[in-house]
Amino acid sequence: MMRCPCCGARDFRRSERCPAEAAPGFRECGHCGILVDPHALASGEIETFLRTRLVAGTFVSRRRDPIIVESYALRTLALSRRLALSPLGAAQRHALCHPYQPLPANAALSPLAMIDPVPVTLVILCRPVDLKCLTPQLPELERRFDDIVLMLDATMTPQTPPRGDRVRLVARPLAGNFAAQRNAGQVAAKCDWVLQLDADESLGAGTHADLGRVAALADSAGAVSVGLPRRNLVDCVLADLYPDVQYRLNHRTVQFEGTVHERPAPPRGWRDSFIAPNLAIDHHLTAAHVEARSARYEQLSPGKGRMFERDALLTPYRP
Ligand SMILES: [Zn+2]
Repeated sequence: MMRCPCCGARDFRRSERCPAEAAPGFRECGHCGILVDPHALASGEIETFLRTRLVAGTFVSRRRDPIIVESYALRTLALSRRLALSPLGAAQRHALCHPYQPLPANAALSPLAMIDPVPVTLVILCRPVDLKCLTPQLPELERRFDDIVLMLDATMTPQTPPRGDRVRLVARPLAGNFAAQRNAGQVAAKCDWVLQLDADESLGAGTHADLGRVAALADSAGAVSVGLPRRNLVDCVLADLYPDVQYRLNHRTVQFEGTVHERPAPPRGWRDSFIAPNLAIDHHLTAAHVEARSARYEQLSPGKGRMFERDALLTPYRP
């Protein structure tokens, strides 16, 4: 199956929206909600459409286009080209907050770089053994984030904690509950928006500059949770498990749930969230770690070791 030209997922499906809003032959991306003509994807027509139509200025979704979008899906499609959407009129604004209305998108698109970023707290879940590797990274992270919280899986802070004007260390036993640990990070954050990472994750190239801008864009439409594609690098090779979207950029009021595969739980579920394909988390793994992690998850939460996930991690990325 082909990957989505917007979010990279291999998740095209038949849906009621296709014949109603586009044509029976179209497919809906189950990840980002765009409606795509598979033939146009194969022929390269989609590339031309994105290059010529997804540009700064007014965008109107037309019935004959190879991609059909309403306001909600257009926000993500625009972000994939580093453009910010501003819905034109009350009906379009309503559609942005209430996906998926059968209302073709009509919006002003502008360069994302023109948006003033809002401050973001960085929370890193880590263990005492990770501090040796994290500490040298802190000066660089302090230049990029107004507030950094290291959520340390421990009962007490180390004798020589990492230092920094913007760095705080919170010792709290993880006790197998990832959601509770992330929620403690949400509470500790000083900024309204919080990016949550693990010790073996870093931000993809160019992502930092856009983080606060995407948060500001979310604020403008009342969205509280943003999904970032995660690039799993297994022994430095990009894995086929992509985009592996992680909803890690959240308003501080959002709480996570789920002991192991934790997810944020905003008031209206996924409707309060969107994917930002212009952002990326790099996840640094070894094949040995993938095997061990899968076994450990199975132990924590039987049946949830996600063997398909392990297989996709051990397969190199296929375009
Ligand atoms: Zn998609």
